[in-house]
Amino acid sequence: VTFADFGLAPEILRALTDQGYVHPTPIQAQAIPVVLQGRDVMGAAQTGTGKTAGFSLPIIQLLLAHANSSMSPARHPVRALVLTPTRELAVQVADNVKAYSRHTPLRSTVVFGGMDMKGQTVLLKGGVEIVIATPGRLLDHIEQKNVSLSQVQMLVMDEADRMLDMGFLPDLQRIINLLPKKRQNLMFSATFSPEIKKLANSFLDKPVLIEV
Ligand code: AMP
Repeated sequence: VTFADFGLAPEILRALTDQGYVHPTPIQAQAIPVVLQGRDVMGAAQTGTGKTAGFSLPIIQLLLAHANSSMSPARHPVRALVLTPTRELAVQVADNVKAYSRHTPLRSTVVFGGMDMKGQTVLLKGGVEIVIATPGRLLDHIEQKNVSLSQVQMLVMDEADRMLDMGFLPDLQRIINLLPKKRQNLMFSATFSPEIKKLANSFLDKPVLIEV
């Protein structure tokens, strides 16, 4: 299997060649076609398995259908939101998304706590299709009306077990309540506790279970 077999756009394939990726990892081989079909996903995967590309590549492919090269911020509403438990993971995911989308007109940015709001605000207000965020800081930006989530079509919850461990459940629920009801949801977790299953049942719609 190669990445070209998934029908990914040439711009994405070029970025993968830049990265030196030749073959998809097992989670990528399972997740990419399912996400491209528009299905919700519950993925059991640790870091190091390639799960980031497993959700980022099909998201970029799906968003490319409506990508816009206009400079106007209004033409770049947030359409995909990736939530992570820590700033380190947020930065890592954002670096990956930037690398995979570098030959496309899609824009992305990262927001996390502990850094001043100003620079993040400028980037958000400039218009970005993909936002990678830690939950608390995203809520700060929403309260200050720096970003709207009314056009989000795809939600990723990365390392959902760690988000629960860190007490982010109320923040996650507040964020999810602000999203359109009709959207695609992807959730990744290294472990499958009863709490994770409950969270999955509450916000995933007939998810495809992917385990590696
Ligand atoms: P992740 O589990 O998403 O954090 O990815 C782990 C590491 O594997 C990262 O450094 C990726 O850049 C790298 N990686 C992801 N997918 C592939 C692939 N198909 N081929 C080679 N390296 C990859």
